[in-house]
Amino acid sequence: MPSTTDLPGVTELLATAVGAVGGAERPGQVAMAEAVARAIRTGDHLAVQAGTGTGKSLAYLVPALRHAVETESTVVVSTATIALQRQLIDRDLPRLEKALAKPLGRRPTFAILKGRRNYLCLHKIDSGFEDEPEDAALFDPFAISRIGREVTRVREWVSDTETGDRDELVPGVSEQAWRQVSVSARECLGKARCPMGTDCFAEKAREEAGRADLIVTNHALLAIDALQGYQVLPEHDLVIVDEAHDLVDRVTSVATAELTSGTVTMAARRAGRVVDQELADRLLEAGDGLGMIMEDLPSGRLDEMPRPLAGSLAALRDAAHACVTGLGSEKSGDVDVQTARKLALSQLEEVHDTTVRLLGAWDADTANRRDVVWRTEPHGNRPPALYVAPLGVAGLLRDRLFARNTTILTSATLTLGGNFDSMARSWGLPAEQEGASSPTEGAATEKSVEGPRWTALDVGSPFDHARHGILYLAKHLPPPGRDGLPPSYLDEIGELMAAAGGRTLGLFSSMRAAKQATEELRKRTDLEILCQGEDSTALLVRKFAEDEASCLFGTLSLWQGVDVPGPSLQLVVVDRIPFPRPDDPLASARQRAVEARGGNGFLSVAATHAALLLAQGTGRLLRSTTDRGVIAILDPRLATARYGGFLRSSLPSYWTTTDPAVVRAALTRLDAASSPKESA
Ligand code: SF4
Repeated sequence: MPSTTDLPGVTELLATAVGAVGGAERPGQVAMAEAVARAIRTGDHLAVQAGTGTGKSLAYLVPALRHAVETESTVVVSTATIALQRQLIDRDLPRLEKALAKPLGRRPTFAILKGRRNYLCLHKIDSGFEDEPEDAALFDPFAISRIGREVTRVREWVSDTETGDRDELVPGVSEQAWRQVSVSARECLGKARCPMGTDCFAEKAREEAGRADLIVTNHALLAIDALQGYQVLPEHDLVIVDEAHDLVDRVTSVATAELTSGTVTMAARRAGRVVDQELADRLLEAGDGLGMIMEDLPSGRLDEMPRPLAGSLAALRDAAHACVTGLGSEKSGDVDVQTARKLALSQLEEVHDTTVRLLGAWDADTANRRDVVWRTEPHGNRPPALYVAPLGVAGLLRDRLFARNTTILTSATLTLGGNFDSMARSWGLPAEQEGASSPTEGAATEKSVEGPRWTALDVGSPFDHARHGILYLAKHLPPPGRDGLPPSYLDEIGELMAAAGGRTLGLFSSMRAAKQATEELRKRTDLEILCQGEDSTALLVRKFAEDEASCLFGTLSLWQGVDVPGPSLQLVVVDRIPFPRPDDPLASARQRAVEARGGNGFLSVAATHAALLLAQGTGRLLRSTTDRGVIAILDPRLATARYGGFLRSSLPSYWTTTDPAVVRAALTRLDAASSPKESA
């Protein structure tokens, strides 16, 4: 048995692992594994772009497990999607556990850990401390009975589940129902006080994670661990962020707070169980006052503090503070009292902290503000809401993530406009130095300017993009309009779909456009067109994959979530460059802040956002080395606008044309080659 100081090198371990799973050596995978091992050794952070098919999960898991076993430490791997989490936990790690047990001298161990809200709370279920549903459901008897049915189903599930993990409940339940059976970290009584502490699912998951060499988690929990004042992940020294292109958005979500009159009502109701009714009524009144003022506020970004809002927020802050003071210090040993107190305190603190943050959001001048505030429209029974979100999370990540751990960031799309600069800046890492060359495939580029030291590596892709994919720029079409898809776009999509014999994924910039295309084209073709929203997305994607002659139209989640290798997908159509909407409060505020500092806001924010989504969306085409097909971008600005070059350089080097006849002929040939031969 090898001693931990004498373990085989990463390349050898990777070869063992790849051999055990019946794979072949891939140069990109080896280069990535060696770079990860180097980063672990030197402590420099690493960003690795690795195209689909590289086998990047093994390329980081092997050096990570070796490091954990060698140093008896814990490694954290974070993902954005449940699909990748499942792949790591159900497929990759069990295989590695077996394959590496002998060379590492023992079986490496792993566990999955999510936020407390992801697990059933046995105490909440047992004690009947269910909240009345807030907001919309308060007024909607149908919603209340639906939520009731869902909660009953979850209660029945308790005796079947071993993990209490929400993601294992099939079919899932609504957020409102899940809130009735789970608690946030702030609401939890803590294992020592909770009567169900020894059986608690969340506590068991934490304990298992504490013993594991490697913990798989999500970006949200990673962000909570890094940003909040308390530790939720076990002690660790290495973090691997897969799907790193999504890190900034997920961290921003965690750092975003919401305030509605419904939240205040709920806090007041909870407070009413444990403080003087007078204090709870004062909070309720302050919430009603806020509700009335919010009705009259304009929707969208609020650049100045609306005058009536200031007074209302101050009254709310003081009323919430009075309730917290009224709770006093904890004396009762009664579990029911403790539970009611904890539930009230968590909600009161949330209202108080959000109100304080909102009151301070407009203090600095525009160029130096840290937070952005906006109001959303009322929606159905849901009242208008106020949101406060950080303008950027670069500083937070630099101080709380990169300063504490060696961090490896990886994804198929990290270079935008040909380099890592945009991503690096958004993470709080220094961009490449002026004049430094763009990273070349396989060659690591060291970043030596001020800030955390990091290395960039693009291991390329096993796909031959220039031979297997055509990028069709429909230069002859008019620019996209404001009022839906122009008729010429519908004609173009219809002709391309017909040439491809179906096999089409339509990625639209809005649900409205996806529905319009579906309705219009269903009148013109016998090909089946599936449209997002008409069934669960997972089911639609399965149908699309099974029926080669079908088409699937949809919007954002399809841009990133479809993985259909083979002849069912040979054409990806994009209707317009996916810039953020001009009224997107966060993107527009970020753009304005860059401009206030003398930068190019459009390129730094809007074009970068579009480049990332385009790279993600068009990446749906080639999913295996034998795939072939066409990416059709109908928006002619990709060919004609000045920023078109930046966007095109964010895509792999497909063979490019503007000639529709050439593209239709290619699609027809592909269709003929893919269709089953007629029997003689
Ligand atoms: S320890 Fe917390 S999460 Fe677990 S059962 Fe008790 S209250 Fe619920």
